Amino acid sequence: MKVAIFNTKNYDRQFLEAVNVNHSHELFFLESLLSQNTASLAAGFPAVCMFVNDQADATILDTLASNGTRLIALRCAGFNNVDLARAVELGMTIVRVPTYSPYAVAEHAVALLLTLNRKIHRSYNRTREGNFSLEGMMGFDLYGRTVGVVGTGKIGLIFAQIMKGFGCQLLGYDLYPHPNFVELGGKYVELPELLNSADIISLHCPLTPESHHLIDQRAISQMKPGVFLINTSRGALIDTKAAIQGLKSKKIGALGLDVYEQEADLFFKDLSEQIIQDDVFERLLTFPNVIITGHQAFLTQEALQHIAETTLSNITDFEQGCFLKNEVKAQ
Ligand code: NAD
Repeated sequence: MKVAIFNTKNYDRQFLEAVNVNHSHELFFLESLLSQNTASLAAGFPAVCMFVNDQADATILDTLASNGTRLIALRCAGFNNVDLARAVELGMTIVRVPTYSPYAVAEHAVALLLTLNRKIHRSYNRTREGNFSLEGMMGFDLYGRTVGVVGTGKIGLIFAQIMKGFGCQLLGYDLYPHPNFVELGGKYVELPELLNSADIISLHCPLTPESHHLIDQRAISQMKPGVFLINTSRGALIDTKAAIQGLKSKKIGALGLDVYEQEADLFFKDLSEQIIQDDVFERLLTFPNVIITGHQAFLTQEALQHIAETTLSNITDFEQGCFLKNEVKAQ
């Protein structure tokens, strides 16, 4: 099948080409993000493959459908960037990669937490400059601390398992509680109680209309002073301006982000020669207790292999009219 693959980087290409030996699709790699301006590049392609910051809103889907696209293959889990209702109206099929490596993302959340707590980012810079002073480097033992896990699905559960290994107490909040979390020794509570009791909060729920700005000024006001907040899920779960206020007032003791509300304008590109115009993002970078990584939590060899295998299998299943186990359906 002819597939237009938007937003590709070298590492995507490497894994997709290797796995395609078993599928023989015609893969066309495009560096551009899928947007209104670039949708016409997929003219004549029955399948379009897209990633987290590509857009497939109603207008873009209209353009794709009118040019012959019937399948949108997301090479990620989240599908908040696709207008599912419009896709149904247009008779388009949407497939995704529901899980590629929950370990990759959970481990990255832990990496952000450990780095912030033990000030590894500051220590790295200091020792390179011959500054071995320990002033300002104090952390705390994770052992015995209370960790709040918001969203206890695949990634949240693994994060909880790792934190349990550190000897932490686990609190969970989820719309659909998972027995495995309770078996781990975790306790489900309502969100206000989790916010109120956790020393560390890590977000692992999807971005939906209900979870948009789940962490806003009100939620932050309910948190423990000095709370560590980690978000590897989706940027808009946090109202960034409220988080900045929380950092300024020291309510938030540290903030670790792999995702950011307006990341589509920034992430996955080398902007090091440019002046970044996003003042909110730039303000975040001024805090010594904030670490931002550019949506790299998924980026492990295992995850890229799974993404390539599942994406190409999804496309093959669609082409052969097989049952689509990874189809995304409008609710
Ligand atoms: P999952 O579907 O297995 O788990 C999500 C959990 O969140 C479910 O248990 C669900 O019931 C719960 N949930 C849904 N809405 C909620 C709400 N409003 N409040 C509380 N809980 C809610 O998904 P997963 O594989 O664990 O992935 C979680 C998220 O991680 C994805 O939605 C995606 O946004 C993000 N993600 C990020 C990266 C990255 O590279 N940073 C990579 C993959 C996934």
